[in-house]
Amino acid sequence: MSAAPLLRQVFGFDSFRPGQEEIVNAVASGRDVLAIMPTGGGKSLCYQLPALMRDGLTVVISPLIALMRDQVRALTEAGVAAAALTSGNSDEENSEVLRAMAARELRLLYMAPERLASGATVPMLRRAGVQAIAVDEAHCVSQWGHDFRPDYLRVGELRRVLSVPLAAFTATADAETRDEIVQRLFDGAQPQTFLRGFDRPNIHLAFQPKDGPRRQILDFAAARRGQSGIIYCGTRAKTETLAAALNQSGLAATAYHGGMEADARREVEARFQREDGLIVVATVAFGMGIDKPDIRWVAHADLPKSIEAYYQEIGRGGRDGAPAETLTLYGPDDIRLRRGQIDESLAPPERKAADHARLNALLGLAEATGCRRIALLRYFGEKAVAPCGNCDICDDPPECFDATEAAQKVLSA
Ligand code: ADP
Ligand code: MG
Repeated sequence: MSAAPLLRQVFGFDSFRPGQEEIVNAVASGRDVLAIMPTGGGKSLCYQLPALMRDGLTVVISPLIALMRDQVRALTEAGVAAAALTSGNSDEENSEVLRAMAARELRLLYMAPERLASGATVPMLRRAGVQAIAVDEAHCVSQWGHDFRPDYLRVGELRRVLSVPLAAFTATADAETRDEIVQRLFDGAQPQTFLRGFDRPNIHLAFQPKDGPRRQILDFAAARRGQSGIIYCGTRAKTETLAAALNQSGLAATAYHGGMEADARREVEARFQREDGLIVVATVAFGMGIDKPDIRWVAHADLPKSIEAYYQEIGRGGRDGAPAETLTLYGPDDIRLRRGQIDESLAPPERKAADHARLNALLGLAEATGCRRIALLRYFGEKAVAPCGNCDICDDPPECFDATEAAQKVLSA
């Protein structure tokens, strides 16, 4: 069946989101594809729909059991034969999946990359007549990103062995990560690449130099009392002290970081999902699994480590499309700290240079004298035409701006 009727009948959508249709067509026609779309852009559909347009089985590599579960549940409810092989399954569940696969009943099979480490998996997939591979969150193959998953490196080998087309999806857009994905998943052969839709026009962008940072953050949070928000901090200790300070000023806040027990972390995640108006004060450990549509604000109490990290973190706000506010604080200590972290890391020199460039791109954004969105989208390779009208600089353009432009005209005349 072709794409449009499936879109309606199976997924219940009237139209494609921007970018989806071209990607669906490229994937369905059996090309190798790399698609970069922001979080919430609708990447899942871009491999699910083509899986139903072709015969046989599509294997989906996905990093999180929770993500796989959600998708399998939604697909099954829509009448699609989909299943996941995960460590969270019971033995009975797994043998039912294997049976359905051997009987060639399944259209989509989700699995974590760790499965590929078992010698039995690849021969099993060969016998099941896999027609295509989809790789979700493909940036997990990037050794220097903070979501690195070593077993993603096995996916390239799977593609070689099965010799079927592969479509990779990620929201991480920078050129470095893209190159790494092409090297590791496609053996360096350039796939058809789609990059679009990075603008999140409902998210208000704002930066402030630190000037009494505790007060700046408390004021920002207090002005948004009753709305769900995230505050990212540079250290674990700070998440605790800042959460306590917020509580003291009568705001519901709780800390979250990688040093907490798994149970305690899950409890915060569940509470955030359920409650209105909770503030989570977190390190970057609060990340990929968050899927709350109505996060109304995201603040950075400390400068993020790169422009990529900044974009990902503010992007957790406003996924429902309604307005979301952000505030990012920065000061000389942050810059020193971030530079030091890069210098002290064990990464090879070319990686350090790239990390410095990503940090410098963020500093450029922090110190921008024109529309911040234009600068941000330019970094991601998208052209923005006009000032956005939804950042602190557009709200209140600096006085010197016209003068500088006028001076430049005079100088270049
Ligand atoms: P991503 O993986 O890019 O973050 P998802 O695939 O999770 O995004 O999709 C985000 C949301 O958008 C989901 O709720 C999905 O059902 C919805 N969605 C995807 N495509 C469409 C469409 N064409 N029309 C309406 N909603 C869509
Ligand atoms: Mg996704």
